[in-house]
Amino acid sequence: MKISFLGATQEVTGSKFLITTVKGTKILLDCGMYQGKGLETDAMNRDLGFDPTEIDYLILSHSHIDHSGLIPYICKEGFRGTIFCTPAACDLCGIMLADSGKIQEADTMQFNKKREKENLPPVKPIYTMRDAMNSMRQFVSVPFDHPYRINSEFSIRFIDTGHMLGSGAIYMTVKEGRKTKTLCYTGDIGRYNKKILPDPKAFPQADYIITESTYGDRLHTSLDFAEEELMLIVKDAVAQRKGKLIIPAFAIGRTQDVVYALHRLKGKNNLPDVDIFVDSPLAVSATDIFRKHAENFNEGMQKFIDDHDDPFGFEKLHYVRTVEDSKRLNTHNRPCVIISASGMMEAGRVKHHLANNIENPSTTILSVGYCAPNTLGAKILRGDKKVSIFGVSNQVRATVKSLEAFSGHGDYEEMIRYLSCQNKSKIKQLFLVHGEDEVRRNYSRHLCDAGFNNIHIPMFREEVEL
Ligand SMILES: [Zn+2]
Repeated sequence: MKISFLGATQEVTGSKFLITTVKGTKILLDCGMYQGKGLETDAMNRDLGFDPTEIDYLILSHSHIDHSGLIPYICKEGFRGTIFCTPAACDLCGIMLADSGKIQEADTMQFNKKREKENLPPVKPIYTMRDAMNSMRQFVSVPFDHPYRINSEFSIRFIDTGHMLGSGAIYMTVKEGRKTKTLCYTGDIGRYNKKILPDPKAFPQADYIITESTYGDRLHTSLDFAEEELMLIVKDAVAQRKGKLIIPAFAIGRTQDVVYALHRLKGKNNLPDVDIFVDSPLAVSATDIFRKHAENFNEGMQKFIDDHDDPFGFEKLHYVRTVEDSKRLNTHNRPCVIISASGMMEAGRVKHHLANNIENPSTTILSVGYCAPNTLGAKILRGDKKVSIFGVSNQVRATVKSLEAFSGHGDYEEMIRYLSCQNKSKIKQLFLVHGEDEVRRNYSRHLCDAGFNNIHIPMFREEVEL
């Protein structure tokens, strides 16, 4: 068989890997969108590097848009095969792809206004919300740890990586005549000792491994003290400074982590008695999906549910759905906590809260996730004194803090710990993807030091015979 690396090779977005078996079956692993490069990304996303009508199956590791975001596009362009993922990933795709379609439509409308002024014809969005909803018909869910025979040639199994709800490594067994080859695509790998999801789970011995490298040269702070740090920040922001604490957070994963941490602190009487608002419609829907998939939680969380009923609901926590209720928060003059998407502060309702409060010295802004270079979040975090929000220049008078322990990705020690479930001498090739080039090279050195061999750093659109 052959593998083509069609995305996430020199960067962390656009994951797409195409397997072609000896019989010619084409299996796509993930179909992610490129993100964060402005106008350039649209052209990159439309240029897939394969013909969607020729793909037989798509297997999805998890629902993050950089892994799933082009599914509606390939379906629209003629892909008619089945999409396999875990039940939670399927439910999350239902809301995330629809939301992405809505964003594509809104961005294109904005872009077309500019084109109209320049007397240029309008362009169409890469896909719409309707396309996204249509693509959901092709999904079939397969639970974790359940070997699933796709056809006489190959079978798959999802194994929990603890990166987000429903995220699974894809373990494939492929028959070639009398020989059987095994391949594991890890997708994204979560941290150890998290509060909601389990640790990344070991996978059976694989001949070939494709693995992520996002934090291949970084070490995170321990998760043990994350709650305490959060408590100190909340106390300082609302009890000392008597202002608003704005937490820009990814709607799925990070928001639920923060809400659950606040719930636990509340239970220990370690939280000031203020209102907490979750102001993101996507986060509200995602939280409902978390509640539905409690089977994916770790033991500690299961026990918490036995004792507390709803981990994502407690007194003084309010979920904000409507635009009117969101706007009402502008005139909420008492100290409070507002958790709102997006995490990189580039889109969503959080931009309105920042625009309204960033010039107020009593405000605290707390970042709890990764902010790509050049995003508003990155600018605020690096200490810019002036930032532009909705085209208006704002003085940054708010206090800015960050708490990276809540990261969804393991650091290099955690990723090596995860891969150490393997007999290193039996791995025929270990491919490093989903990372900047320098990070992948540094990660490769860490892996060598840990005893791994046969490491390969594939280039964009490289093809390798397995
Ligand atoms: Zn991810």
